[in-house]
Amino acid sequence: MLRAIPHFIAGARSPGCGERFAEVHDPAHGSPQARVPLATGAEVARAVEAAAAAQPSWAAESPQRRARVLAEFKRLVESRLQELAELLSSEHGKVLADSRGDIERGLDVIEFACGIPHLLKGEYTQGAGRGIDVYSLRQPLGVVAGITPFNFPAMIPMWMFGPAIACGNAFILKPSEQDPSVPVRLAELLAEAGAPAGILSVVHGDREAVDAIIAHPLIAAVSFVGSSQVAQHVYAGATALGKRVQAMGGAKNHGIVLPDADLDQAARDIAGAAFGSAGERCMALPVAVAVGGDTAEALRARLVSAIGRLRVGVPTDREADYGPLVSAAHRERVLRFIELAVREGAELVIDGRGLELPGAAGGYFLGPTLLDRVTPAMRSYQEEIFGPVLQIVRAASFEEALALPSAHPYGNGAAIFTRSGGAAREFATRVNVGMVGINVPIPVPVAYHSFGGWKRSAFGDVNQHGMDGVRFFTRIKTVTARWPAARPGPGPGPGDDRPSYAMPAV
Ligand code: NAD
Repeated sequence: MLRAIPHFIAGARSPGCGERFAEVHDPAHGSPQARVPLATGAEVARAVEAAAAAQPSWAAESPQRRARVLAEFKRLVESRLQELAELLSSEHGKVLADSRGDIERGLDVIEFACGIPHLLKGEYTQGAGRGIDVYSLRQPLGVVAGITPFNFPAMIPMWMFGPAIACGNAFILKPSEQDPSVPVRLAELLAEAGAPAGILSVVHGDREAVDAIIAHPLIAAVSFVGSSQVAQHVYAGATALGKRVQAMGGAKNHGIVLPDADLDQAARDIAGAAFGSAGERCMALPVAVAVGGDTAEALRARLVSAIGRLRVGVPTDREADYGPLVSAAHRERVLRFIELAVREGAELVIDGRGLELPGAAGGYFLGPTLLDRVTPAMRSYQEEIFGPVLQIVRAASFEEALALPSAHPYGNGAAIFTRSGGAAREFATRVNVGMVGINVPIPVPVAYHSFGGWKRSAFGDVNQHGMDGVRFFTRIKTVTARWPAARPGPGPGPGDDRPSYAMPAV
């Protein structure tokens, strides 16, 4: 009998009343280990009703009190970091150090959200007209929802619910059904920290639950992170119903290596960013663009040597650099891309397909794979692979290299490796993507800046976390106020006793 993972609705675990379930696998051994209920529309509605009931009094709490609940939540998560990381690794497959990083990067956003008393302060103009003051209020939206992908089951939920709840909203989280246990534990720990029942509910599910979230009239905003195809579906559906939406999608990030780069550093950074977490990161660096033939040869030799030292292993192997892919189906998809790249004429320099790990025979492992002489016309270049596959593209000049990420359909991030400040500045200014690294391979912005790509990597205008997170989960109300004069004196002026029919001048 498989372990049952519950929903967390209205402050309590709930087994689910639908008839559909998904299996949650142990990717390191390739076997089912639990099952998770897939919510019906009625279960989503129950979570929304609990959220709507709890939200007004949560919003009426002082921001300082809300911040203290989040601070206590952070303390509780930190005290269980190892246990949560083990749970995360057991369902996702990433190595333990990476799972800890997943949780800790999420806690960075919680820490940012603890500054909410300061972040919610509005604007004030005294004497905008005679006797008139104008001020703005940042108010919560009410009930909001987040739909998250499998690859960061702790960080991405915290990107969303941290700012949302700090701002006074109630939050419905629909995490990935592939690794759903940690999100439930996070919701339980937030309740233990003092969040009232209904302020954070976790409802598992697939398209049926997502479509119920899109359609529910009481959900004011939807934050989504996942593949571009689903991001577009959520964005189109929810905006058509008048909801506020931010929907982050897929990626194909490029690392440009100029001839003057520190090639040892660039190769180390690119290998780490391409293969870390088995390449299942939206800010992974799966394309290395070498400028000039000599750079390409020197980079390739260093990458081959770095890959030779790389170790794939089960998540609990402390020496392992990365673990298995999340599922058999995803592994199959990555394998198909490797076959496609070879058919398209790419040179297979290192083939990871034969990897066998003693003691983990059924696991969804794939060794690091290096492809050279990849060209922009290849479909394996144009599409996101999301696995441990690094493609080298050779460019003749800086301009040709700059054009590659700029013209690519995805526009999450790009990095440049160079010693030239001028070239780096030119690249950062002109490249057509949302996040740029200069000798930094994974330029994920820190929590108090905001995260978001361009083109097919993001639908909607407002990024995740930082001040954009506060903007997304609040709306501005502007108040123009005039109080009767406390004592006779210089008032609004002559003609007070007659109504004014013109647009008042200030
Ligand atoms: P996914 O799109 O398959 O799933 C994301 C969420 O949508 C999950 O909660 C899933 O249950 C739900 N979903 C899946 N299919 C659906 C459908 N047909 N209708 C409605 N909902 C559906 O993505 P994934 O495989 O979990 O995650 C990997 C993807 O996420 C990659 O493309 C990666 O680049 C992207 N990603 C992007 C960012 C970013 O910030 N841009 C961050 C992390 C991951």
